Amino acid sequence: MLARLKTNFYLAMISLVGLIITICVTPYAFYRLATGNVWVGVADLIMVFVSISCVIFAWRTGNTKAPGQVMAIVFCVGAIFVCINLGVDGLFWVYPFIVFIFFLVSPLKALLLLLVSVSVLVGYSIVYPGQIFSTPFQLVSFTVTSVVTSLFAYMFAYRTLTQREALKLLATTDSLTGAANRRTLDEALVMAITHKQKTGTEFGLMLLDLDYFKQVNDNYGHKAGDTVLIDLVPVLKQMVRQRDTVFRFGGEEFVVLLADLKQTDLQKLAEKIRLAVNEHLILPDGKKLTTSIGVAILQQDESWESWLHRADMALYQAKNQGRNQVVCG
Ligand code: GH3
Ligand code: MG
Ligand code: MG
Repeated sequence: MLARLKTNFYLAMISLVGLIITICVTPYAFYRLATGNVWVGVADLIMVFVSISCVIFAWRTGNTKAPGQVMAIVFCVGAIFVCINLGVDGLFWVYPFIVFIFFLVSPLKALLLLLVSVSVLVGYSIVYPGQIFSTPFQLVSFTVTSVVTSLFAYMFAYRTLTQREALKLLATTDSLTGAANRRTLDEALVMAITHKQKTGTEFGLMLLDLDYFKQVNDNYGHKAGDTVLIDLVPVLKQMVRQRDTVFRFGGEEFVVLLADLKQTDLQKLAEKIRLAVNEHLILPDGKKLTTSIGVAILQQDESWESWLHRADMALYQAKNQGRNQVVCG
């Protein structure tokens, strides 16, 4: 449970907002019901009920988008309703809600939702003067402060989002080639095992190592070697389907993880890739590079370590048998 909270930002945020709303709004709901303000009490209870339901839904399904949106919309409608019924007393709730909304939906959606909500409150106050705000000055002050708070919260949320995305990219991709990195491979292999156990989907693994790559560095320089590695990734990506993933395993070794294919298709594809590498990877003096490939189909009840080991052994055999070939593990 703690691990899910740590790794899933939106789940953690939805849970936090749900918890705070439940703890803070429930006493108000009962106070309003007890003092005869039934509609506000009911509105508060609806917000609490929706929050709890959305948190449960998010935990059960792993889907955080829909519950986040439902909570954000219900809070905005609830805040408008409470302000109309309570007047200035209700306005204090608008500010924490402004912050909450940015925890629940994307920054742009949150900003739009808040601007619409403030516009509704302002429009209502113009049509029914004196019901929410006692003076026009209060109305103007509320409009300015709520819009300024929304804009600052938007800028903060937007920066956090872009930084989170940049960090994720850094943590999951290889900086030289842009291929997925070793850490992502481990996770993808575990997911493939789980998927096979649940659905029976076939998975194939290709372990590819450039032949005599050390000589490329020695003869043409490290930079030329880097260029070869950078050029290799688009060649591999072009040969596989969108859902298949190319990983840099380390050095000049790459892994391709493929779903939904049989042993013969895996072997055929590896052969095509071997030819494509030979055709497209050209050294500064026009010479061509070759590659050795080990392939393995995931067996029933096999661990990912054993699967990877079989592909590695197949690659080792391909190297021993003279390189520039595909061997099946
Ligand atoms: P083999 O056919 O047996 O695979 O021979 P090889 O020379 O390719 O194999 P070896 O493992 O001995 O050499 C791999 C070389 O890859 C050694 C290292 O200099 C080079 N290398 C590893 N990472 C990088 C990198 O990021 N950039 C460059 N330019 N070279 C790299
Ligand atoms: Mg090599
Ligand atoms: Mg190597």
